[in-house]
Amino acid sequence: MAVQHSEALNKFKETIHKIKSYEEALGVLYWDLRTGAPKKGMDHRSEVIGSLSGDMFKLSTSPELGEWLSTLEEKSTYSELTEIDQRLVLETRKDYDRSVKIPPKLYQEYVILSSQSESKWEEAKEANDYASFQPYLEKVIDYTNQFIDLWGAKETRYDTLLDQYEPGMTVAQLDGIFGGLRSQLVPLAAAIAASPHQPDTSFLRQKFDKTAQKEFGLYILNQMGYDFEAGRLDESAHPFATGLTPGDVRITTRYQEDDVTNALFGTIHEGGHALYEQNIMKSLIGTTLCTGTSMGIHESQSLFWENIIGRSRPFWDSYYGELQKKFPGQLDASVDQFYRGNNIVQPSLIRIEADELTYSLHIIIRYEMEKLIFNGGAKAADLPAIWNEKYKEYLGITPPNDAKGILQDVHWSGGAFGYFPSYSLGYMYAAQIADTMEREIDGMWSLVGGGNLLPIKEWLSDRIHKYGKMRTPSELIQSISGKPLDPQHLVTYLTKKYTDIYKL
Ligand SMILES: [Zn+2]
Repeated sequence: MAVQHSEALNKFKETIHKIKSYEEALGVLYWDLRTGAPKKGMDHRSEVIGSLSGDMFKLSTSPELGEWLSTLEEKSTYSELTEIDQRLVLETRKDYDRSVKIPPKLYQEYVILSSQSESKWEEAKEANDYASFQPYLEKVIDYTNQFIDLWGAKETRYDTLLDQYEPGMTVAQLDGIFGGLRSQLVPLAAAIAASPHQPDTSFLRQKFDKTAQKEFGLYILNQMGYDFEAGRLDESAHPFATGLTPGDVRITTRYQEDDVTNALFGTIHEGGHALYEQNIMKSLIGTTLCTGTSMGIHESQSLFWENIIGRSRPFWDSYYGELQKKFPGQLDASVDQFYRGNNIVQPSLIRIEADELTYSLHIIIRYEMEKLIFNGGAKAADLPAIWNEKYKEYLGITPPNDAKGILQDVHWSGGAFGYFPSYSLGYMYAAQIADTMEREIDGMWSLVGGGNLLPIKEWLSDRIHKYGKMRTPSELIQSISGKPLDPQHLVTYLTKKYTDIYKL
């Protein structure tokens, strides 16, 4: 490699390292804000976060970075780079092109607007007053449309937004995937609703000591292979996982004293995210490749643990006895009753409280609405009525008001259009991954039933986690299962599970 080229490489990597350092510092500040930072320090803390984010944005859009990238992209130079450096150049180019196309002034206006819009949304939801939020949503949509123009529309305008969260995902693919999913889930949900064999859930709703809940959650995290020397469990209003570096991946949960499994499933979910971040290969540390490859794949890891493992019968065959011991005299339901009670299906209005089956229908509604907004020109004023019609059509229920309807999610107020499909993609990836795992790990479900979860964690780390961003979502799912994303795995999994539980 010519001298000026290796100099470009060094400077490029130094800058990436610096960007990653800002990310880590900001990650700690956010974690601190959400886990109990003193109230009186919050305003100042927001300023600090704003100032550091600004510096980071400058670094990642600097003309020098653009020049180094161009040098490294020259064919003869690029071919001499290591595999990691090549991927780093590819990924950085993508982010760089996206960011530099937005004029700094427009970006700043947008940052201010989205923070105002988020707090307006919060008030509007509280007051059940969509009209007060509507002008903000209109503006956020308007800015997002300007960004699409600047970035350049892909196959459709909405494709440009999808690509931010699930690189390579398109409306053409999603229409097929969601169409297939919807046509099979709707009749399954109807058959379940008509079944006379509805699970009993009454025993789940007693007062369950918080300390005992926490002890059990810690025990299960240990069983999953979560490394407590590289992480910690705290409490926060909204559970989350934050991966600073593989040596420091923190999770939070929220205990509800009237529900024995709510916090537990939340803890397992965040634990699944955390295992991903804890097991990325060491050679990626300090680079921007040291994180999950997409929102959808990240969500596949949390949902795999939460639902496919955590809500499975073998899991409870193995762990129900331990749970009973934590709450003496409180859980006399049989393991079968307990398993069924934790897998009840009920069409509901609120996405984050939805069961495994109807969850995807909530996502499909949001996906169709986002398409209408960006590809079909739907106006903010018309959205509540469209929302309510779709709930009636897909879930058979109509929201009594906008607070329980269109105002329930924070995402649109902050401009996160294109994000929702990732949740549902996560379910589909998880089911497809589980299928391959069942074939590759001998007696996988006997291991779960015997309380031996570590081979599962090892398999996931070896096939997914270690690669960080070295593989794209489609490369990953292809390498694991030998084919692209196929929603049929999720449909088969859900059909088998609920046919058994509801004796269909
Ligand atoms: Zn998640």
